[in-house]
Amino acid sequence: MKVDERLAKNAITPDDEPHIVIDQAACRSCDPRPCLTACPAHLYEVIEATGEVHVETAGCLECGTCLVVCTPEALTWHYPSGGLGIRYRFG
Ligand code: SF4
Repeated sequence: MKVDERLAKNAITPDDEPHIVIDQAACRSCDPRPCLTACPAHLYEVIEATGEVHVETAGCLECGTCLVVCTPEALTWHYPSGGLGIRYRFG
C-alpha cells in the first residue's frame, strides 16, 4: 500500500481554533522558510499578495516537524482540543 493510500484511511476532525499560529513578524525574518518543504502534508504556503506564510491546520498530521524546523520560533503549536484533530487508523 502506498503512503498516500495509507494516509487516506485516517480521519481528521478540525478544531475551530487553529492549533498552529504563525507569528508573522518572526516568520518574515526566516529564509529559506523550511516549513514550506518539511511539512509532510504540504500544508504551508506563501500568500503571494502579502508574502506571509499560511498553514492549513485542518489537514495536520500532528507530527510536530514544522515546530522543530522553525528556527525563528515563529510558531505557537499545541495539539487540537480533546477528540479533535487526526485519528490514525492502522491496518
Ligand atoms: Fe505539517 Fe506536521 Fe506541522 Fe502538521 S505538525 S503542519 S503535518 S509539519
